[in-house]
Amino acid sequence: LLSVRDLIVEFPTRRGTLRALDRVSFDIAEGEVLGMVGESGAGKSLTGAAIIGLLEPPGRIAGGEIWLRGERIDNLPREKMRRVRGRRIGMVFQDPLTSLNPLYTVAEQLIETIRTHMDLSEKEARARAVGLLDRVGIPAAARRIDDYPHHFSGGMRQRVVIALALAAEPELVIADEPTTALDVSVQAQIIDVLKEICAERGASVMLITHDMGVIAETADRVAVLYAGRLAEIGPVRDVIQAAEHPYTAGLMGSIP
Ligand code: ATP
Ligand code: MG
Repeated sequence: LLSVRDLIVEFPTRRGTLRALDRVSFDIAEGEVLGMVGESGAGKSLTGAAIIGLLEPPGRIAGGEIWLRGERIDNLPREKMRRVRGRRIGMVFQDPLTSLNPLYTVAEQLIETIRTHMDLSEKEARARAVGLLDRVGIPAAARRIDDYPHHFSGGMRQRVVIALALAAEPELVIADEPTTALDVSVQAQIIDVLKEICAERGASVMLITHDMGVIAETADRVAVLYAGRLAEIGPVRDVIQAAEHPYTAGLMGSIP
């Protein structure tokens, strides 16, 4: 489904350029959950941002290619990339408030996203929004749909974000530490909801996290980034049992 080939991301510095991602290559198959781990600063978020075309300047893609189902997407014009984002690739970030606009109700945001990407009437989009909220486990969706994001708890907000990310039936969802900002008690529930809905719809997931325990429970394969390079990638069990890179070997000790 997704193919990242020799991706290089650089930042200009006073002394030259900092290469933050160095020839990173991996694929995500149809319906696959790919976990991505690595210590802070390894380049996980940059990888996600590069794929969805949201790399913040002065960071830039200095080499490589990104393909989504046979279409090259790393060099698309802004407007086209905006359509890929949302319609074909959904996003869930660490802080739900990054994705939610405090000034609009949950219903308004869902309906807006749905209608941007799908040819539906207001009424149809609203019905779809209610269905989505139901599916992500927001109780009494019909009643709360007209509330503003700040009326929801952190966990509920992240459920809304998952509904938003999935609103236009994307082929891939990129989740960057989607539960780091939440209570431990709700973390597993949120990951489960995300995984279940994506599995139902055949969507692939790239799940970025620090938590190897989450990967062990959720992912099919895991990619390990270390200092901007792909240290290893493989089925979770293989990587856990026979880590090749010293960093990964250390990480495996942290699985509960
Ligand atoms: P974390 O687990 O803390 O979220 P990460 O693996 O997501 O870490 P990234 O945010 O992808 O790390 O950053 C990777 C590296 O890219 C950083 O270590 C830094 O060297 C470089 N970098 C990121 N943003 C900038 C920036 N705005 N300016 C300069 N360098 C940057
Ligand atoms: Mg990050």
